[in-house]
Amino acid sequence: MRTVTTASAMQRLAKRWQRGRVRVGFVPTMGFLHAGHLSLVRRARQLVGPHGRVVLSIYVNPLQFAPTEDLSAYPRDFERDAKLCRSEGVDVIFAPGPEEMYPAEPGAAFSTVVVEEQLSKLMEGESRPTHFRGVTTVVAKLFNLVLPEIAVFGAKDFQQAAIIRRMVRDLNFPVKVVVAPTRREQDGLAMSSRNKYLDESQRQQALVLSRALRQAQERVRKGAPASAAQLRAETAALVALAPQARLDYVAFFDPETLAPMQEVRPGVQMALAVFVGRTRLIDNVKL
Ligand code: AMP
Repeated sequence: MRTVTTASAMQRLAKRWQRGRVRVGFVPTMGFLHAGHLSLVRRARQLVGPHGRVVLSIYVNPLQFAPTEDLSAYPRDFERDAKLCRSEGVDVIFAPGPEEMYPAEPGAAFSTVVVEEQLSKLMEGESRPTHFRGVTTVVAKLFNLVLPEIAVFGAKDFQQAAIIRRMVRDLNFPVKVVVAPTRREQDGLAMSSRNKYLDESQRQQALVLSRALRQAQERVRKGAPASAAQLRAETAALVALAPQARLDYVAFFDPETLAPMQEVRPGVQMALAVFVGRTRLIDNVKL
């Protein structure tokens, strides 16, 4: 396994692979890896085969954090990440420094961004208006550096995956986007690097997210179609039972277009964001 830290070295390597017709699978992350990330690595390996290359990037992308968010506190542990990658058979970790991705040369600072203008305005985009422009910009840059044939994203960030798919289609990136299922802890909590912020009591309270999803799932699979308003009220009531939890949003939408649905039937996607203390957690499921 190699670690590459500069954009130029990554792109040189990727071009060499391309000339040699080596298949490349790519897993972009912000590091502090958990079993969810590693499941994406395994999927990438499966897709490119034993002779392909799997690249995992670790980059805490400042452009996708608002000034009020947790950029400087975001958990990092490169040594541990590297160990996990090695044991999963990752070929290259691409871990660029911050200046590497957004050069700040006086008079010639980074000034180009990629903006998806529809899906980015919904849900996460309402709460975090500059978030997805950071995500699409960094992913576009990473695609240009790693030149992957396949890129694997997690369903945990459902809206993000939909936006990346749209960007790839709209800008003709020659990349196949694959979305892998959300990995959960035994008790249902979706794995996330941000779970590290939770104290013991908050960790328990964080179960309201998966509980709310399960409650809605059972409700919709059993009975007649429910209204989104009704399900939203039930979710709010459930979240209110946890003293440190505050519902940011809950949404019911078409999984392809992300269009909000008033009538909720099986197959509709449900997503929610909840603050537990100061930690903002997200989760989603197909009902
Ligand atoms: P992050 O490091 O949080 O930016 O996530 C990097 C990639 O891992 C994204 O495609 C996420 O959707 C995916 N991911 C994060 N958590 C999980 C999880 N619990 N299960 C599956 N994929 C995940």
